[in-house]
Amino acid sequence: MPNISKLSIKSARNALEKKEFSAHDLTQTYLDAIREKDGDPPSGQGRAGIHAFLEVFGDASEQAELADKKIANGENLPLLGIPVAIKDNMLMDGKRATAGSKILEGFVSPYDSTAVKKLKDAGAIILGRTNMDEFAMGSSTESSAYGVTKNPHDLSLVPGGSSGGSAAAVAANLALAALGSDTGGSIRQPAAFCGVVGLKPTYGRVSRSGLIALASSLDQIGPFTKTVGDAEILYDVLKGRDALDSTTITEETYASGKKFSRVIGIPQAFVDGEGIDESIRNNFKEALDKFKSLGYEIKDVELSHIKYALATYYIIMPAEASSNLARFDGVKYGFHKDGKDVIEDYFQTRGEGFGREVRRRIILGTYVLSSGYYDEYYGSALKMKALITAELNRAFEEIDFILTPTTPTPAFKLGEKTADPLAMYLADIFTVPANIAGLPSMSIPSGFDHALPLGIELTAGLGREDNLFVAGKEFLGE
Ligand code: GLN
Repeated sequence: MPNISKLSIKSARNALEKKEFSAHDLTQTYLDAIREKDGDPPSGQGRAGIHAFLEVFGDASEQAELADKKIANGENLPLLGIPVAIKDNMLMDGKRATAGSKILEGFVSPYDSTAVKKLKDAGAIILGRTNMDEFAMGSSTESSAYGVTKNPHDLSLVPGGSSGGSAAAVAANLALAALGSDTGGSIRQPAAFCGVVGLKPTYGRVSRSGLIALASSLDQIGPFTKTVGDAEILYDVLKGRDALDSTTITEETYASGKKFSRVIGIPQAFVDGEGIDESIRNNFKEALDKFKSLGYEIKDVELSHIKYALATYYIIMPAEASSNLARFDGVKYGFHKDGKDVIEDYFQTRGEGFGREVRRRIILGTYVLSSGYYDEYYGSALKMKALITAELNRAFEEIDFILTPTTPTPAFKLGEKTADPLAMYLADIFTVPANIAGLPSMSIPSGFDHALPLGIELTAGLGREDNLFVAGKEFLGE
């Protein structure tokens, strides 16, 4: 049987080609690991184990047998026989999708999201769907309607969020790789908390068709992997123009960038801000020294608007979310609750179907978009978005990367921030700027604090994922 704790996509593909093990054996090993470590079958609250998965697909072994046939026929696809997990907000034909919400209870996807279709076409085996904060709103995977996910490094801690199930699955070797979505940090923050690689691509590089939307101008799908090389393999499969998503871009869109010269910019004032844990500061200094020893030039970069990114995000994101979530009316999808009349049906369905955090954001979003406050809030946020974007794009004429910690603290205790939404929102301080400006950004493991993983975040200019892969591999010694 394969030793999955040591496998990467790259090494697994080699071993499958050389027939060291079959896709069937590999898949079975992951299914056994899930059974052992992920807890009892989904039952909502109070499960023992990690609870990364909301559902493990009964047809996983069948998919593996098909992959073995293709391998025997000499087919060579980039993910052939590779077991992956998918965040529960990406549609998979014939499978349930809930986005972690009761309001989508019982909903079955009528088609494949483009990202999932691309994985299938590349030969991947889809193991199941992973837990997430409800509608991807959160930084801890505690707002899921289907129970919390725990950090595999310490079951009393959160795995981060909103893609906490996917991050935990990869960290605990319950899948070789996973997909998540990142609107304000939901791939990078849980990647840091769980000690894996997480990439948010340039806005428009990966199709959002079939992704249940949070905030459409910020959402991007991306991979969780154990190595940067694996993130690159998945990114190459996922990227590309898609007729089903008019915001997707091609390779050429940002082709004429600056030449790569190993220059890292540090927004020092931002990194030295309030609320940054001592362990994070120390780890960040060590990471900087490591980049210096690898021959990178470190420069201070003045970014005077970036401190407004989080406030800007918490106006634009709920505004778009309130509009996107209007479709969940108890008529078209999933959960329905009867009232006296149609209007009451809506109130009953949405009042009971949506959780607290989702209702809070709908109220916030409709408020900032209301005619009396539109200019003051939403209009101002759009202006600030333009300023932040312009300032960052200007910076990337001189530097190749911005380096910050991924998170201000290591993973926190389950329940520690659930009563204080503002404290929870601060977990995104370093991740949201990349979403506001559409930039590619990747969290890579940078060491441990008392056995808890920490991460650093590299952000590059538009379309420059290639630079992220070079620097990430050099940093991790791949
Ligand atoms: N934690 C952030 C939020 O709650 C980011 C979510 C995300 O990226 N999906 O909005």
